[in-house]
Amino acid sequence: MGLTRKQMLSVMGAAAAAPLLSGASKPRVIRRDVCVLGGGSAGTYAAVRLGDLGRSVVVVEALDRLGGHTETYHDPATGSTIDIGVVVFEDEPVVRDYFGRFDVGLARIADGGGGGGTTAYVDFRTGRPVDYTPAPPVALPAYFQEISRFGPIDTFFDLPDPVPAELVAPFADFVAKHDFGSVAPLVFNYGQGIGDVLGLPALYAINTFGLGVTRNILNGSFLTTAARDNSLIYERATAKLGEDVLLSTRALRIERSRSGVRVWVTGPGGPQVIEAKKLLVTIPPLVRTLGAVDLDSTERSVFGTFVSGAYYTSVVRLSGLPAGVGLDNVAAGTPYQLPPLPGIYSVAPTAVPGLYNVKYGSPSPLPDAVVRREIRAGIERVARSGTYPVRFEGFAVYKSHTPFELHVGPRDIAGGFYRRLNALQGRNHTYWSGAAWHSHNSTRIWTGLERLLPSIGA
Ligand SMILES: Cc1cc2nc3c(=O)[nH]c(=O)nc-3n(C[C@H](O)[C@H](O)[C@H](O)COP(=O)(O)OP(=O)(O)OC[C@H]3O[C@@H](n4cnc5c(N)ncnc54)[C@H](O)[C@@H]3O)c2cc1C
Repeated sequence: MGLTRKQMLSVMGAAAAAPLLSGASKPRVIRRDVCVLGGGSAGTYAAVRLGDLGRSVVVVEALDRLGGHTETYHDPATGSTIDIGVVVFEDEPVVRDYFGRFDVGLARIADGGGGGGTTAYVDFRTGRPVDYTPAPPVALPAYFQEISRFGPIDTFFDLPDPVPAELVAPFADFVAKHDFGSVAPLVFNYGQGIGDVLGLPALYAINTFGLGVTRNILNGSFLTTAARDNSLIYERATAKLGEDVLLSTRALRIERSRSGVRVWVTGPGGPQVIEAKKLLVTIPPLVRTLGAVDLDSTERSVFGTFVSGAYYTSVVRLSGLPAGVGLDNVAAGTPYQLPPLPGIYSVAPTAVPGLYNVKYGSPSPLPDAVVRREIRAGIERVARSGTYPVRFEGFAVYKSHTPFELHVGPRDIAGGFYRRLNALQGRNHTYWSGAAWHSHNSTRIWTGLERLLPSIGA
Protein backbone atom coordinates (compact mmCIF):
# COMPACT_ATOMS: atom_id res chain seq x y z
CA MET A 1 0.00 0.00 0.00
CA GLY A 2 3.04 2.23 0.27
CA LEU A 3 2.00 3.78 3.62
CA THR A 4 4.63 4.60 6.22
CA ARG A 5 4.26 2.97 9.64
CA LYS A 6 3.13 6.33 11.06
CA GLN A 7 0.48 6.73 8.37
CA MET A 8 -0.71 3.14 9.00
CA LEU A 9 -1.08 3.81 12.72
CA SER A 10 -3.00 7.01 12.17
CA VAL A 11 -5.33 5.23 9.69
CA MET A 12 -5.84 2.38 12.22
CA GLY A 13 -6.55 4.85 15.04
CA ALA A 14 -9.04 6.76 12.92
CA ALA A 15 -10.73 3.50 11.85
CA ALA A 16 -11.14 2.36 15.46
CA ALA A 17 -12.52 5.71 16.52
CA ALA A 18 -14.79 6.20 13.53
CA PRO A 19 -17.91 4.39 14.87
CA LEU A 20 -17.59 6.25 18.16
CA LEU A 21 -17.02 9.61 16.57
CA SER A 22 -19.97 9.14 14.20
CA GLY A 23 -22.19 8.18 17.15
CA ALA A 24 -23.05 4.86 15.46
CA SER A 25 -22.48 2.75 18.58
CA LYS A 26 -24.05 5.10 21.18
CA PRO A 27 -21.20 5.06 23.70
CA ARG A 28 -21.90 5.62 27.37
CA VAL A 29 -21.12 9.19 28.42
CA ILE A 30 -19.13 9.84 31.59
CA ARG A 31 -19.16 13.43 32.89
CA ARG A 32 -16.40 14.53 35.24
CA ASP A 33 -14.55 17.65 36.30
CA VAL A 34 -11.17 16.19 35.33
CA CYS A 35 -10.15 13.34 33.05
CA VAL A 36 -6.71 11.99 34.02
CA LEU A 37 -4.76 10.24 31.27
CA GLY A 38 -2.38 7.64 32.77
CA GLY A 39 -2.65 6.05 36.21
CA GLY A 40 0.93 5.74 37.38
CA SER A 41 2.55 7.74 40.13
CA ALA A 42 1.32 11.15 38.98
CA GLY A 43 -2.12 10.15 37.69
CA THR A 44 -3.11 8.10 40.73
CA TYR A 45 -1.95 10.72 43.22
CA ALA A 46 -3.70 13.50 41.31
CA ALA A 47 -6.97 11.56 41.10
CA VAL A 48 -6.99 10.84 44.84
CA ARG A 49 -6.15 14.41 45.80
CA LEU A 50 -8.59 15.99 43.33
CA GLY A 51 -11.25 13.89 45.07
CA ASP A 52 -10.17 15.47 48.36
CA LEU A 53 -10.73 18.88 46.75
CA GLY A 54 -14.28 17.88 45.87
CA ARG A 55 -13.61 17.36 42.18
CA SER A 56 -14.99 14.42 40.22
CA VAL A 57 -12.39 12.49 38.22
CA VAL A 58 -11.93 9.56 35.90
CA VAL A 59 -8.56 7.92 35.26
CA VAL A 60 -7.86 6.33 31.87
CA GLU A 61 -5.10 3.73 32.23
CA ALA A 62 -3.82 1.55 29.39
CA LEU A 63 -2.66 -1.33 31.61
CA ASP A 64 -4.77 -3.61 33.80
CA ARG A 65 -3.42 -2.03 36.99
CA LEU A 66 -2.52 1.35 38.42
CA GLY A 67 1.08 2.06 39.38
CA GLY A 68 3.04 2.57 36.16
CA HIS A 69 6.75 2.36 36.99
CA THR A 70 5.84 1.00 40.43
CA GLU A 71 5.60 -2.73 39.94
CA THR A 72 5.92 -5.65 42.32
CA TYR A 73 6.84 -9.22 41.38
CA HIS A 74 5.06 -11.88 43.43
CA ASP A 75 7.18 -15.03 43.60
CA PRO A 76 4.72 -17.90 43.17
CA ALA A 77 6.97 -20.39 45.01
CA THR A 78 7.50 -18.42 48.24
CA GLY A 79 4.83 -15.73 48.13
CA SER A 80 7.60 -13.15 48.61
CA THR A 81 7.38 -9.79 46.91
CA ILE A 82 10.12 -8.00 45.00
CA ASP A 83 9.71 -4.37 43.94
CA ILE A 84 11.15 -4.35 40.44
CA GLY A 85 10.29 -0.70 39.74
CA VAL A 86 10.02 2.15 42.26
CA VAL A 87 11.66 1.20 45.57
CA VAL A 88 12.42 4.31 47.63
CA PHE A 89 10.53 7.40 48.74
CA GLU A 90 11.86 10.47 50.49
CA ASP A 91 10.89 10.98 54.11
CA GLU A 92 8.55 13.90 53.48
CA PRO A 93 5.08 14.75 54.84
CA VAL A 94 3.60 14.30 51.35
CA VAL A 95 4.79 10.68 51.38
CA ARG A 96 3.78 9.89 54.95
CA ASP A 97 0.33 11.45 54.44
CA TYR A 98 -0.30 9.52 51.22
CA PHE A 99 0.77 6.12 52.59
CA GLY A 100 -0.87 6.90 55.94
CA ARG A 101 -4.31 7.56 54.45
CA PHE A 102 -4.21 4.10 52.81
CA ASP A 103 -2.83 2.47 55.94
CA VAL A 104 0.32 1.25 54.15
CA GLY A 105 3.22 1.01 56.63
CA LEU A 106 6.59 2.53 55.79
CA ALA A 107 10.07 1.51 56.94
CA ARG A 108 13.47 3.05 56.53
CA ILE A 109 15.62 1.43 53.85
CA ALA A 110 18.60 1.93 56.17
CA ASP A 111 16.86 -0.34 58.70
CA GLY A 112 17.03 -3.37 56.40
CA GLY A 113 14.72 -2.57 53.50
CA GLY A 114 17.60 -2.49 51.05
CA GLY A 115 18.42 -6.20 50.94
CA GLY A 116 21.94 -6.06 52.41
CA GLY A 117 24.53 -8.58 51.17
CA THR A 118 27.91 -7.94 49.64
CA THR A 119 28.78 -6.41 46.30
CA ALA A 120 31.37 -7.66 43.85
CA TYR A 121 32.52 -5.30 41.11
CA VAL A 122 32.59 -6.70 37.62
CA ASP A 123 33.19 -5.22 34.18
CA PHE A 124 30.28 -6.78 32.32
CA ARG A 125 31.99 -6.10 28.98
CA THR A 126 34.53 -8.79 29.86
CA GLY A 127 32.97 -10.51 32.87
CA ARG A 128 36.20 -9.91 34.79
CA PRO A 129 36.43 -8.58 38.34
CA VAL A 130 37.52 -4.95 38.71
CA ASP A 131 39.76 -3.83 41.52
CA TYR A 132 37.44 -1.16 42.83
CA THR A 133 36.50 0.21 46.21
CA PRO A 134 33.80 2.87 46.08
CA ALA A 135 35.15 6.13 47.43
CA PRO A 136 33.08 7.43 50.35
CA PRO A 137 31.02 10.32 48.92
CA VAL A 138 32.79 12.87 51.07
CA ALA A 139 31.79 15.73 48.78
CA LEU A 140 28.06 15.14 49.29
CA PRO A 141 27.49 18.02 51.75
CA ALA A 142 29.39 20.39 49.42
CA TYR A 143 27.35 19.06 46.47
CA PHE A 144 24.16 19.84 48.41
CA GLN A 145 25.35 23.40 49.04
CA GLU A 146 26.34 23.89 45.43
CA ILE A 147 23.07 22.68 43.90
CA SER A 148 21.03 24.72 46.41
CA ARG A 149 21.88 27.73 44.23
CA PHE A 150 19.57 26.42 41.52
CA GLY A 151 16.50 26.05 43.75
CA PRO A 152 14.13 23.06 43.75
CA ILE A 153 14.85 21.98 40.16
CA ASP A 154 14.21 18.40 41.28
CA THR A 155 10.50 19.28 41.53
CA PHE A 156 9.91 21.71 38.67
CA PHE A 157 12.10 22.70 35.74
CA ASP A 158 11.72 26.31 36.85
CA LEU A 159 14.94 27.66 35.43
CA PRO A 160 16.31 31.16 35.69
CA ASP A 161 16.45 33.17 32.47
CA PRO A 162 19.09 32.98 31.13
CA VAL A 163 19.64 29.38 32.15
CA PRO A 164 22.93 29.11 34.11
CA ALA A 165 25.67 27.86 31.81
CA GLU A 166 26.64 25.24 34.39
CA LEU A 167 23.26 23.52 34.00
CA VAL A 168 23.56 23.44 30.23
CA ALA A 169 27.13 22.10 30.13
CA PRO A 170 27.79 18.36 30.64
CA PHE A 171 27.54 17.09 34.21
CA ALA A 172 31.17 15.95 33.80
CA ASP A 173 32.21 19.63 33.75
CA PHE A 174 30.22 20.37 36.91
CA VAL A 175 31.84 17.40 38.67
CA ALA A 176 35.34 18.40 37.57
CA LYS A 177 34.91 22.10 38.38
CA HIS A 178 33.71 21.46 41.93
CA ASP A 179 35.79 18.38 42.61
CA PHE A 180 32.72 16.17 43.07
CA GLY A 181 34.40 12.99 41.81
CA SER A 182 33.50 11.14 45.01
CA VAL A 183 29.81 11.80 44.31
CA ALA A 184 29.76 10.84 40.60
CA PRO A 185 29.33 7.04 41.08
CA LEU A 186 26.51 7.66 43.56
CA VAL A 187 24.71 9.95 41.10
CA PHE A 188 25.16 7.34 38.37
CA ASN A 189 23.84 4.50 40.50
CA TYR A 190 20.98 6.39 42.09
CA GLY A 191 20.10 7.84 38.70
CA GLN A 192 19.81 4.50 36.95
CA GLY A 193 17.79 4.96 33.81
CA ILE A 194 18.94 8.48 33.03
CA GLY A 195 21.66 7.22 30.71
CA ASP A 196 25.06 8.82 30.17
CA VAL A 197 25.00 10.90 33.31
CA LEU A 198 28.38 12.57 32.70
CA GLY A 199 27.62 13.53 29.10
CA LEU A 200 24.09 14.84 29.67
CA PRO A 201 23.54 18.50 30.56
CA ALA A 202 24.09 18.86 34.32
CA LEU A 203 20.44 19.91 34.60
CA TYR A 204 19.36 16.27 34.29
CA ALA A 205 21.81 14.87 36.82
CA ILE A 206 20.86 17.56 39.33
CA ASN A 207 17.14 17.15 38.61
CA THR A 208 17.46 13.41 39.36
CA PHE A 209 19.98 13.67 42.17
CA GLY A 210 18.57 16.85 43.64
CA LEU A 211 18.14 18.48 47.00
CA GLY A 212 15.53 15.97 48.24
CA VAL A 213 17.53 12.88 47.27
CA THR A 214 20.79 14.29 48.64
CA ARG A 215 19.12 15.22 51.93
CA ASN A 216 17.67 11.70 52.31
CA ILE A 217 21.03 10.08 51.57
CA LEU A 218 22.82 12.33 54.05
CA ASN A 219 20.17 11.61 56.69
CA GLY A 220 19.81 7.90 55.87
CA SER A 221 16.08 8.55 55.75
CA PHE A 222 14.84 6.93 52.52
CA LEU A 223 11.62 4.97 53.01
CA THR A 224 10.05 1.91 51.43
CA THR A 225 6.93 -0.04 52.35
CA ALA A 226 7.28 -2.17 55.48
CA ALA A 227 5.74 -5.09 53.53
CA ARG A 228 8.28 -4.59 50.68
CA ASP A 229 5.33 -4.27 48.34
CA ASN A 230 5.07 -0.76 46.95
CA SER A 231 2.13 -1.73 44.76
CA LEU A 232 -0.05 -1.81 47.88
CA ILE A 233 -0.64 1.92 47.64
CA TYR A 234 -1.91 1.52 44.08
CA GLU A 235 -4.11 -1.47 44.92
CA ARG A 236 -5.75 0.54 47.71
CA ALA A 237 -6.07 3.64 45.53
CA THR A 238 -7.75 1.47 42.87
CA ALA A 239 -10.28 0.29 45.45
CA LYS A 240 -10.90 3.83 46.67
CA LEU A 241 -11.34 5.27 43.18
CA GLY A 242 -13.68 2.40 42.20
CA GLU A 243 -15.58 3.16 39.00
CA ASP A 244 -13.51 6.29 38.52
CA VAL A 245 -10.68 4.13 37.15
CA LEU A 246 -10.93 2.70 33.65
CA LEU A 247 -8.22 0.02 33.41
CA SER A 248 -7.07 -1.65 30.18
CA THR A 249 -8.58 1.33 28.43
CA ARG A 250 -7.27 3.21 25.42
CA ALA A 251 -8.00 6.78 24.45
CA LEU A 252 -8.82 6.82 20.75
CA ARG A 253 -9.31 10.52 20.32
CA ILE A 254 -9.10 13.54 22.59
CA GLU A 255 -10.59 16.85 21.50
CA ARG A 256 -10.29 20.08 23.41
CA SER A 257 -12.59 22.97 22.61
CA ARG A 258 -13.80 26.16 24.28
CA SER A 259 -16.43 24.19 26.18
CA GLY A 260 -14.07 21.55 27.58
CA VAL A 261 -12.63 18.16 26.74
CA ARG A 262 -14.08 15.09 25.02
CA VAL A 263 -12.22 11.79 25.27
CA TRP A 264 -13.32 8.79 23.24
CA VAL A 265 -12.09 5.60 24.89
CA THR A 266 -12.43 1.89 24.42
CA GLY A 267 -11.85 -0.85 26.98
CA PRO A 268 -13.56 -3.68 28.85
CA GLY A 269 -16.57 -1.37 29.43
CA GLY A 270 -16.94 -0.98 25.66
CA PRO A 271 -16.81 2.36 23.91
CA GLN A 272 -17.31 5.36 26.17
CA VAL A 273 -17.06 9.12 25.84
CA ILE A 274 -15.72 11.19 28.69
CA GLU A 275 -16.84 14.80 28.85
CA ALA A 276 -14.66 16.72 31.26
CA LYS A 277 -13.94 20.31 32.10
CA LYS A 278 -10.22 19.63 32.19
CA LEU A 279 -7.67 17.10 31.07
CA LEU A 280 -4.62 16.09 33.11
CA VAL A 281 -2.07 14.23 31.01
CA THR A 282 0.48 12.17 32.97
CA ILE A 283 1.83 9.87 30.26
CA PRO A 284 5.28 10.60 28.77
CA PRO A 285 4.70 13.64 26.54
CA LEU A 286 6.12 12.46 23.23
CA VAL A 287 4.29 13.25 20.00
CA ARG A 288 3.89 9.51 19.31
CA THR A 289 2.51 8.64 22.76
CA LEU A 290 0.10 11.58 22.50
CA GLY A 291 -1.23 10.36 19.14
CA ALA A 292 -4.86 10.50 20.34
CA VAL A 293 -4.62 14.10 21.50
CA ASP A 294 -5.52 16.97 19.13
CA LEU A 295 -2.17 18.65 19.75
CA ASP A 296 -1.85 22.17 18.43
CA SER A 297 1.27 23.35 16.63
CA THR A 298 2.86 24.78 19.80
CA GLU A 299 2.38 21.53 21.75
CA ARG A 300 3.59 19.51 18.78
CA SER A 301 6.73 21.61 18.48
CA VAL A 302 7.52 21.46 22.22
CA PHE A 303 6.89 17.73 22.63
CA GLY A 304 8.65 16.99 19.35
CA THR A 305 11.88 18.24 20.92
CA PHE A 306 11.99 15.52 23.61
CA VAL A 307 14.32 12.55 23.21
CA SER A 308 13.79 9.39 25.26
CA GLY A 309 16.29 7.34 27.21
CA ALA A 310 15.57 3.71 28.09
CA TYR A 311 15.41 1.59 31.24
CA TYR A 312 14.67 -2.09 31.71
CA THR A 313 14.13 -4.21 34.79
CA SER A 314 13.92 -7.93 35.32
CA VAL A 315 14.06 -10.73 37.83
CA VAL A 316 16.34 -13.55 36.67
CA ARG A 317 16.96 -17.02 38.05
CA LEU A 318 20.65 -17.64 38.67
CA SER A 319 22.60 -20.44 40.25
CA GLY A 320 26.26 -20.50 41.22
CA LEU A 321 26.59 -17.11 42.92
CA PRO A 322 27.50 -17.24 46.62
CA ALA A 323 24.48 -16.37 48.79
CA GLY A 324 24.00 -12.64 49.29
CA VAL A 325 26.52 -11.61 46.64
CA GLY A 326 25.42 -9.03 44.06
CA LEU A 327 27.33 -7.81 41.02
CA ASP A 328 27.71 -4.12 40.18
CA ASN A 329 28.89 -3.05 36.75
CA VAL A 330 32.11 -1.04 37.07
CA ALA A 331 34.35 -0.33 34.12
CA ALA A 332 38.07 -0.57 33.93
CA GLY A 333 39.57 2.62 32.49
CA THR A 334 36.61 5.03 32.27
CA PRO A 335 36.06 8.30 34.17
CA TYR A 336 35.07 7.44 37.75
CA GLN A 337 34.97 3.84 36.50
CA LEU A 338 31.38 4.31 35.35
CA PRO A 339 30.30 1.57 32.94
CA PRO A 340 29.43 2.55 29.37
CA LEU A 341 25.78 2.13 28.37
CA PRO A 342 23.88 0.28 26.97
CA GLY A 343 24.67 -2.16 29.72
CA ILE A 344 23.71 -3.90 32.91
CA TYR A 345 23.66 -1.65 35.97
CA SER A 346 23.62 -4.38 38.56
CA VAL A 347 22.61 -7.92 39.45
CA ALA A 348 21.15 -7.62 42.94
CA PRO A 349 20.13 -10.47 45.22
CA THR A 350 16.52 -10.39 46.38
CA ALA A 351 14.76 -11.81 49.43
CA VAL A 352 14.24 -15.02 47.44
CA PRO A 353 17.35 -17.23 47.08
CA GLY A 354 18.18 -17.78 43.41
CA LEU A 355 16.23 -14.71 42.21
CA TYR A 356 18.15 -11.57 41.25
CA ASN A 357 16.93 -8.14 40.15
CA VAL A 358 18.80 -7.07 37.03
CA LYS A 359 18.52 -3.50 35.79
CA TYR A 360 19.68 -2.47 32.32
CA GLY A 361 20.02 1.01 30.84
CA SER A 362 20.53 2.54 27.44
CA PRO A 363 20.84 6.13 26.22
CA SER A 364 18.16 5.31 23.61
CA PRO A 365 15.44 2.65 23.28
CA LEU A 366 16.43 -0.87 22.19
CA PRO A 367 14.33 -3.84 21.06
CA ASP A 368 13.35 -6.02 24.05
CA ALA A 369 14.89 -9.08 22.40
CA VAL A 370 18.26 -7.29 22.32
CA VAL A 371 18.07 -6.27 25.98
CA ARG A 372 17.09 -9.78 27.10
CA ARG A 373 19.94 -11.25 25.04
CA GLU A 374 22.46 -8.73 26.43
CA ILE A 375 21.42 -9.34 30.04
CA ARG A 376 21.96 -13.05 29.56
CA ALA A 377 25.22 -12.56 27.63
CA GLY A 378 26.60 -10.22 30.33
CA ILE A 379 25.95 -12.77 33.05
CA GLU A 380 27.41 -15.59 30.95
CA ARG A 381 30.60 -13.58 30.42
CA VAL A 382 31.05 -13.52 34.21
CA ALA A 383 31.04 -17.33 34.19
CA ARG A 384 33.19 -17.67 31.07
CA SER A 385 35.88 -15.42 32.47
CA GLY A 386 36.01 -17.56 35.62
CA THR A 387 34.89 -14.77 37.97
CA TYR A 388 31.95 -16.76 39.40
CA PRO A 389 30.47 -20.07 38.23
CA VAL A 390 27.15 -18.33 37.69
CA ARG A 391 24.50 -19.96 35.50
CA PHE A 392 21.64 -18.10 33.87
CA GLU A 393 18.46 -20.18 34.37
CA GLY A 394 15.93 -17.80 32.78
CA PHE A 395 13.79 -14.71 33.31
CA ALA A 396 11.11 -14.83 36.01
CA VAL A 397 9.93 -11.46 34.73
CA TYR A 398 11.22 -8.83 32.32
CA LYS A 399 9.76 -5.34 31.83
CA SER A 400 10.65 -2.42 29.63
CA HIS A 401 10.14 0.96 31.30
CA THR A 402 10.69 2.85 28.08
CA PRO A 403 10.16 5.71 27.19
CA PHE A 404 12.14 6.92 30.17
CA GLU A 405 13.93 10.14 31.11
CA LEU A 406 12.74 12.50 28.40
CA HIS A 407 15.37 15.14 27.81
CA VAL A 408 16.41 17.80 25.30
CA GLY A 409 19.76 19.02 24.05
CA PRO A 410 21.89 21.81 25.57
CA ARG A 411 20.90 24.34 22.90
CA ASP A 412 17.22 23.75 23.57
CA ILE A 413 17.70 24.13 27.33
CA ALA A 414 19.61 27.38 26.83
CA GLY A 415 17.02 28.50 24.27
CA GLY A 416 14.19 28.41 26.79
CA PHE A 417 12.71 24.96 26.16
CA TYR A 418 11.49 24.57 29.75
CA ARG A 419 9.89 28.03 29.73
CA ARG A 420 7.91 26.97 26.66
CA LEU A 421 7.11 23.60 28.24
CA ASN A 422 5.81 25.09 31.49
CA ALA A 423 3.77 27.67 29.57
CA LEU A 424 1.60 24.80 28.32
CA GLN A 425 0.09 24.29 31.78
CA GLY A 426 -3.56 25.21 31.61
CA ARG A 427 -3.69 25.90 27.85
CA ASN A 428 -6.48 24.09 26.00
CA HIS A 429 -8.05 23.07 29.36
CA THR A 430 -5.05 20.79 29.75
CA TYR A 431 -2.60 20.28 32.60
CA TRP A 432 0.49 18.11 32.51
CA SER A 433 2.37 16.12 35.14
CA GLY A 434 4.63 13.08 35.49
CA ALA A 435 8.35 12.50 35.46
CA ALA A 436 9.09 14.68 32.42
CA TRP A 437 7.55 17.67 34.24
CA HIS A 438 9.09 17.06 37.66
CA SER A 439 11.66 14.29 38.01
CA HIS A 440 11.88 10.49 37.93
CA ASN A 441 11.03 10.53 41.59
CA SER A 442 7.56 9.87 43.03
CA THR A 443 8.12 12.14 46.04
CA ARG A 444 9.02 15.03 43.74
CA ILE A 445 6.06 14.31 41.44
CA TRP A 446 3.62 14.39 44.36
CA THR A 447 5.25 17.56 45.73
CA GLY A 448 4.98 19.18 42.31
CA LEU A 449 1.37 18.10 41.95
CA GLU A 450 0.48 19.73 45.25
CA ARG A 451 1.49 23.03 43.64
CA LEU A 452 -0.52 22.33 40.48
CA LEU A 453 -3.67 20.93 42.09
CA PRO A 454 -5.31 24.25 43.04
CA SER A 455 -5.21 25.31 39.36
CA ILE A 456 -6.38 21.91 38.08
CA GLY A 457 -9.19 21.84 40.63
CA ALA A 458 -10.21 25.49 40.20
C1 LIG B 1 12.90 0.40 37.39
C2 LIG B 1 12.56 1.76 37.97
C3 LIG B 1 12.92 2.06 39.29
C4 LIG B 1 12.57 3.30 39.84
N1 LIG B 1 12.88 3.54 41.14
C5 LIG B 1 12.39 4.65 41.74
C6 LIG B 1 12.51 4.83 43.13
O1 LIG B 1 13.05 3.98 43.84
N2 LIG B 1 11.99 5.96 43.68
C7 LIG B 1 11.35 6.89 42.92
O2 LIG B 1 10.84 7.87 43.48
N3 LIG B 1 11.25 6.76 41.59
C8 LIG B 1 11.75 5.67 40.97
N4 LIG B 1 11.60 5.51 39.63
C9 LIG B 1 11.15 6.66 38.84
C10 LIG B 1 9.68 6.64 38.47
O3 LIG B 1 9.68 6.88 37.09
C11 LIG B 1 8.85 7.70 39.18
O4 LIG B 1 8.93 7.54 40.58
C12 LIG B 1 7.35 7.67 38.83
O5 LIG B 1 6.86 6.37 38.92
C13 LIG B 1 7.01 8.24 37.47
O6 LIG B 1 5.63 8.45 37.46
P1 LIG B 1 4.82 8.87 36.19
O7 LIG B 1 3.42 9.06 36.61
O8 LIG B 1 5.52 9.95 35.46
O9 LIG B 1 4.94 7.60 35.20
P2 LIG B 1 4.30 6.18 35.37
O10 LIG B 1 4.31 5.77 36.79
O11 LIG B 1 4.97 5.28 34.38
O12 LIG B 1 2.78 6.41 34.93
C14 LIG B 1 2.37 6.58 33.60
C15 LIG B 1 1.13 5.73 33.40
O13 LIG B 1 0.53 6.05 32.14
C16 LIG B 1 0.12 4.85 31.53
N5 LIG B 1 0.02 5.12 30.10
C17 LIG B 1 1.02 5.29 29.21
N6 LIG B 1 0.50 5.56 27.99
C18 LIG B 1 -0.85 5.59 28.13
C19 LIG B 1 -1.94 5.86 27.26
N7 LIG B 1 -1.74 6.15 25.96
N8 LIG B 1 -3.20 5.80 27.74
C20 LIG B 1 -3.43 5.51 29.04
N9 LIG B 1 -2.44 5.26 29.92
C21 LIG B 1 -1.16 5.30 29.47
C22 LIG B 1 1.18 3.85 31.91
O14 LIG B 1 0.71 2.52 31.76
C23 LIG B 1 1.45 4.25 33.37
O15 LIG B 1 0.60 3.56 34.25
C24 LIG B 1 11.92 4.26 39.04
C25 LIG B 1 11.58 3.97 37.72
C26 LIG B 1 11.88 2.72 37.20
C27 LIG B 1 11.47 2.39 35.79
